[in-house]
Amino acid sequence: MKKTNRKEFIKASALLGFGAMTLGVNASKLEIDNLGTSNKIFPIDPKDGKFELPPLGYDFNALEPHIDAQTMEIHYTKHHQAYINKLNDAISKEPGLKGRSLEDLLTNNSSLPESVRSAVRNHGGGHWNHSFFWKSMKTGTSMGKDFEKAVLGSFESVAAFKASFEKLATGVFGSGWAWVIMQNGLLKIVTTPNQDNPILDAGKNAPKVLLGIDVWEHAYYLKHKNKRGDYVSSFWNVVNWDEIEGLLK
Ligand code: MN
Repeated sequence: MKKTNRKEFIKASALLGFGAMTLGVNASKLEIDNLGTSNKIFPIDPKDGKFELPPLGYDFNALEPHIDAQTMEIHYTKHHQAYINKLNDAISKEPGLKGRSLEDLLTNNSSLPESVRSAVRNHGGGHWNHSFFWKSMKTGTSMGKDFEKAVLGSFESVAAFKASFEKLATGVFGSGWAWVIMQNGLLKIVTTPNQDNPILDAGKNAPKVLLGIDVWEHAYYLKHKNKRGDYVSSFWNVVNWDEIEGLLK
């Protein structure tokens, strides 16, 4: 992408939110392999087929001092669990949806029965986003060679990439997310409102999601209060670069 186009894309992402840009894209069939995710991330209770909270994979205090233990505990055990509970409630009202993967329910969301479509979008999105977010974080890793190469193929420098990410993430109006995705061989930074994400209604053209940051106030308010920018700039300390490098393979 040329520099001008990139700027326009970023501007459009900031103004409209990524969700608005994907309207009209319709999906036929899911190709899970393209999404870099697996059923292990979205476990199902074998007894009742309901979605369950996936393991966090580390202690609540593992990301201290950048993300505090209390925020992690509430975010994981209360917020994430609530999205899963409400997603299960929605699916129980439309038995035809039972057994479909979470990626399928999101990438083909607009084709779901209207009675549960927005509940699945919001709570299924919340489940997908948080499951992805936990895996995106770890202390003590550094940017891998493949990701750095991808950054330099799409941005002027690593510093420019980081500055764009911080600006867009900090600038999300209200609650939402900022993401780094790979699409058509280029890295892009996009934002989404609420619990939308880059795979929503993307069908089989879903981009590969590499990194996401939750900028809802519940993700940072206990530690950073109203200073979202401080939270976003400190996020680099907890990015799991090893995970991103693995997703690029
Ligand atoms: Mn959250």
